[in-house]
Amino acid sequence: MTNIIGSLLIGAKSVRDNPAFRATNPMSGEPLEPAFAIAGAREVEQACALAQVAFDAFRETHDEARAVFLEAIAANIEALGSALIERAHAESALPIARLAGERARTTGQLQMFASAVRNGDVHDIRVEPALPGRQPLPRPEMRLRHIPLGPVAVFGASNFPLAFSVAGGDTASALATGCPVIVKGHPAHPGTGELVGRAIQAAVKTCGLPEGVFSLLLGGIETGEMLVRDPRIRAVGFTGSRVGGLALVAIAASRPVPIPVYAEMSSINPIFLLPAALRARAEAIAQGFVGSLVQGVGQFCTNPGLVLGVEGPDLDHFIAVTSAALASQQAATMLTPGIHAAYVKGTGSLENNAAVSLAARGIVAEGPNCATPALLVTDAASFMADARLGDEVFGPSSLIVKCRDIDEMILLAESLEGQLTATLHIDPRDLAMARRLLPVLERKAGRILANGWPTGVEVGHATVHGGPFPATSDSRTTSVGALAIRRFLRPVAYQNLPADLLPPVLR
Ligand code: NAP
Repeated sequence: MTNIIGSLLIGAKSVRDNPAFRATNPMSGEPLEPAFAIAGAREVEQACALAQVAFDAFRETHDEARAVFLEAIAANIEALGSALIERAHAESALPIARLAGERARTTGQLQMFASAVRNGDVHDIRVEPALPGRQPLPRPEMRLRHIPLGPVAVFGASNFPLAFSVAGGDTASALATGCPVIVKGHPAHPGTGELVGRAIQAAVKTCGLPEGVFSLLLGGIETGEMLVRDPRIRAVGFTGSRVGGLALVAIAASRPVPIPVYAEMSSINPIFLLPAALRARAEAIAQGFVGSLVQGVGQFCTNPGLVLGVEGPDLDHFIAVTSAALASQQAATMLTPGIHAAYVKGTGSLENNAAVSLAARGIVAEGPNCATPALLVTDAASFMADARLGDEVFGPSSLIVKCRDIDEMILLAESLEGQLTATLHIDPRDLAMARRLLPVLERKAGRILANGWPTGVEVGHATVHGGPFPATSDSRTTSVGALAIRRFLRPVAYQNLPADLLPPVLR
């Protein structure tokens, strides 16, 4: 199971007809062996046909069977051992310890969905008994359950080669509901993807499930487009750029039968420093902020890219201590040459903006694809006058915005696009101001934090990793946590059906 041969996984088969591209080691810039196949129209067709055939049998599997399947995937991923972590390191430049933690998160996520399946969360059953004597009209008996949508296309993310990729949250939540999954793997980590894909393929076999429950395709934009256009695909999960997510939303909406796209895209995760908190602990906040900003070379969707404070000596002090802390941070290798180029362009255009000043840069490093941390400063009026200042710069860069007073801070919060997170740094004396901000932040963000940092998303039952556009394309749900299964389900009501005809879970 640990050999990487560069193949697509279509149901039970390994297909390696046209080896066409190699992964790049971002630390050396060198290509990695082997070459990987690319899926064309024929492979997309085969994967979709198998998924369609598998759907009815898979969706009617007993909850226990799907729970065991998810646990088998987790066990198979664990069994890949260090080979998985080493390949992921070579393909992503992410540190070994971080990747080991991410593997635990990935298997923990699969196990959490297994327990959600066992709890019956997938069905979310509601029963209203008949009231034959109700006036003026009798009430019918109504029983409701949720059923899976059908085959789901999942686009793996570059920045979490395990937890948001082939067996990541989108795949795990879709499989939990009984939806077959076709993954379009991210081209930055095809070897990692193949190893994990084989772990899923093996679990399909040992659990006696139809082979079409899972396929893994590789390819460029055309492959992804073909997949989303295929009429057998009924929903899409995506994590990546705003441009990519919106392209898939447009394709899905223009199909003869439109389908939902759950795209997690762009967020700058504003941090609100309220005056009493800033006065009381500027140094501690600065340390926490810089740690969160540079973690994972800033390549988190929850990276704190915007900081708001009220102008004055306390904010100036905070900027000074943050600048000193950031200046001692080393540049580090980013995930891909493309992501590095986007970072250089994004920080460059901020630096060249006349309304922005550079407060600090980290220590420049030799070697390809290294991002030097950056801290920039502007004022609220300039920020609100220039939409470009609110664009996500993916990487270890953040913009501090000086507000005249709390009213201007609230005004700026109102002007923000949708966000995954919004964070308040508050002391008890800030509560009145925080109460004024809170309703605005509820409208803007999927998760609101106090006195913490948005990086590090807990996988749990009360987690929301979502938010209004452009954080996601559909703010009504989450891509992390138990509630993620809702994305791939729809309710069906059964009115006055004889018991013998009812699905077993509703009897
Ligand atoms: P990406 O360019 O959006 O690519 C993600 C996946 O979507 C890849 O498999 C890509 O395929 C596919 N794709 C992109 N555009 C498509 C289109 N028009 N039609 C069909 N498929 C399409 O994201 P990325 O490569 O991970 O990183 C690029 C930028 O995305 C980063 O610089 C950052 O700004 C942003 N990003 C954001 C997050 C977040 O969590 N918010 C995470 C990662 C990246 P191909 O690569 O094969 O073309």
